Amino acid sequence: MVLTGAGISAESGISTFRDNGGLWENYSIYEVATPEAFEKNPALVLDFYNQRRRQLHQVQPNAAHLALVDLEAKYDVKIITQNIDNLHEKAGSSQVLHLHGELFKARSSRNPNLIIHHETDIQLGDLAADGSQLRPHVVWFGEAVPAMEEAASLVAHADIFIVIGTSLNVYPAAGLVDFCKPNCEKYLVNPEIVYNIPKDYRVIKEKAGIGVPALVKELLQKGE
Ligand code: NAD
Repeated sequence: MVLTGAGISAESGISTFRDNGGLWENYSIYEVATPEAFEKNPALVLDFYNQRRRQLHQVQPNAAHLALVDLEAKYDVKIITQNIDNLHEKAGSSQVLHLHGELFKARSSRNPNLIIHHETDIQLGDLAADGSQLRPHVVWFGEAVPAMEEAASLVAHADIFIVIGTSLNVYPAAGLVDFCKPNCEKYLVNPEIVYNIPKDYRVIKEKAGIGVPALVKELLQKGE
């Protein structure tokens, strides 16, 4: 099992969330990533995600995303990602669970289960099949995380758990680090100190592009 956060996509050119003083691409999350923000200023919120979606057409997976694909040669690798980008899929990972939604999907603002594939801008007035305004298929702050139960069960059954590029500040996702069974091998890859990580994780204090390929190499050799 692998849990990834914004840090794994940083070397692909996508800004993380908290690394610049709590700003994500120069916006306050309260202006662009809450249901209240969408109610108050839907055009601003749609524009923010339209920019992120356009950027996603331009960026490529990096060495960390690619190394996780190599790991599938010997392990049954399942990725839980907090990211809304598609870089794990673009790299070729076969099992990816998006906890916080996906930029290339849109949904009804009335029915969270009415989801469509959508790679272009969403404008005010673009409607879902039920006649409501289309919105990004993204879990905003204050909203439920429907995939959380499945994610917790996956982590609880893991033999190896690798946590990459997350500050562990966003709950409930951050709580997943405590769900491992006692004999699970646990790794953390992050160039900065992560205060919430339990003491029994082996910490690899490197950027994902260096630390993940090195760990993958080690795990593949171990599996021989
Ligand atoms: P975060 O921004 O809170 O934390 C990023 C972490 O990545 C930090 O601990 C930082 O030290 C680490 N980091 C920075 N550069 C790194 C690198 N090169 N290699 C490895 N680690 C690196 O991110 P989060 O914990 O994922 O929480 C942010 C939330 O915002 C997520 O829930 C996500 O939905 C959303 N978000 C998504 C994206 C994306 O889809 N790429 C980008 C920004 C934010």
